[in-house]
Amino acid sequence: MKNLRCVSCGYEFPLSDTILKCPLCGSNVEVMYDYERLKEVSNEGLFEASRSNIWRYRALLPVFSEKCIVSLDEGWTPLFEAKNLPERLNVSSKLILKNETINPTGSFLDRGSSVLVSRCLELGVSAIACVTTGNMGASLSAYCAKACISCTNFIPKLVELGKLYQTVIYGGKIIWCEDVDDATAKALKACNKGVYPALPNNPIFLDGLKTTAIEICEQMNWNVPNFVVVPIGNGGHIGMIWKGFWEMMQLGFTDEIPKLVGVQTARCAPVMEITGGIMRRGREIRSVAVDIAIKKPLNLYLAVRAIRESKGTVIAVSDDEMIESVSILAKSEGIFAEPAAASTVAAIKALSDEGIIERGDEVVCVLTGAGLKDPFTARELVRRAREVCGVLGDVEEFMGFRRIGRTKMLILEILKEKESYGYAIWKELRRKGRRISMPTVYQHLLELEAMGLIERIPRVVEDSRAGRRNKVLYKVTKIGLEILESLLRGRAGNTKA
Ligand SMILES: [Zn+2]
Repeated sequence: MKNLRCVSCGYEFPLSDTILKCPLCGSNVEVMYDYERLKEVSNEGLFEASRSNIWRYRALLPVFSEKCIVSLDEGWTPLFEAKNLPERLNVSSKLILKNETINPTGSFLDRGSSVLVSRCLELGVSAIACVTTGNMGASLSAYCAKACISCTNFIPKLVELGKLYQTVIYGGKIIWCEDVDDATAKALKACNKGVYPALPNNPIFLDGLKTTAIEICEQMNWNVPNFVVVPIGNGGHIGMIWKGFWEMMQLGFTDEIPKLVGVQTARCAPVMEITGGIMRRGREIRSVAVDIAIKKPLNLYLAVRAIRESKGTVIAVSDDEMIESVSILAKSEGIFAEPAAASTVAAIKALSDEGIIERGDEVVCVLTGAGLKDPFTARELVRRAREVCGVLGDVEEFMGFRRIGRTKMLILEILKEKESYGYAIWKELRRKGRRISMPTVYQHLLELEAMGLIERIPRVVEDSRAGRRNKVLYKVTKIGLEILESLLRGRAGNTKA
């Protein structure tokens, strides 16, 4: 009934639960069903309309036993027309929002987690390992908590705080890693010792994500929109949205697949490098939307197939546009989404500017994750609001930037004077009476960078003894300066009092 098939070479083999890649060519594999047999089942028999979650499509999900289903009521999320957004963006197309922010842990990944953890229960798995930039770990940790399965998350250090808090609160274990490559290597090593590989390219996990597309078809009364806009991180969601639409066509529910538009960030757009698309340049903030700034997406093949087969495109939006879109979406439609999710709204503007979407087109925007997952952006938006209307100063003071202690302030002050290297900062701190070790200085620099208050400028320098060397120059960002000034103002105020 259910096989695995390679996305690139078509090699098909029996469903195996630990194979993540094609054994012949290394490409992504996906779950295939006996579509001819499923077609014989009546519509009523195929879909269980009494369930208001992804399990209404159980016949098309790779879990066999009803009693193993682990659900927190994920999916069957609202799909509705945006009333104010078209005017706000000056776009003449009909904009339709798919609100994934209301899923149990606040992101679309709950669709995959529910399927994967159910399958793990069926297999008698007691521990899983996950590689995550945030949302996937938060989601899997919640479902594992419900299933009494241990969940270890391998996380790169640049992670949005809300997602980290969620993961810890659901009881997920955390192993810090340098970057995604390091995290993947460490997770696979754990999996060699019998832990189940819950990586973003796991085909069982991926298959749950296709329910976004099936729901869109059903909610549009078995019609499809002209475009579906969705962020690309590891590429699994867009890849599986394509598969969901393809399956609906295979089963005779619909006649076509909409054009899929993937959204990446201008600072990291590996799918666009392959498929082409539209680049929107702007200010870069490294710590924003890390979930969709993945250099080597694990599901690259799936994402590229989705764009090419659907004759879609990729839009790389700037970080500033993304942050602005969080505000536009919240103020026009009452939905507070995280920057990676609001990137789809920024992409709509680009699609309209380029004449790709026109009057009469129906465009579905998939809002993949909730706003409070990224407190940094929330704080940045409150700051901007204060600048505009001048009444929110108290809110900001209340939030207090408590994580910025005396050492970090000194570093910001040093960098305000001039750009500097790590060693020079260490020396200057000593001169100012802060005698701390070099590793501690680098830890502070890393944290300041993660908060978006400073940025790195890579430099190649000539050294008379060592020859050409790569060094990193640090520079305070515009937000860093603003925060330093507001902290200094606050301090002056306190002294007066
Ligand atoms: Zn293959």
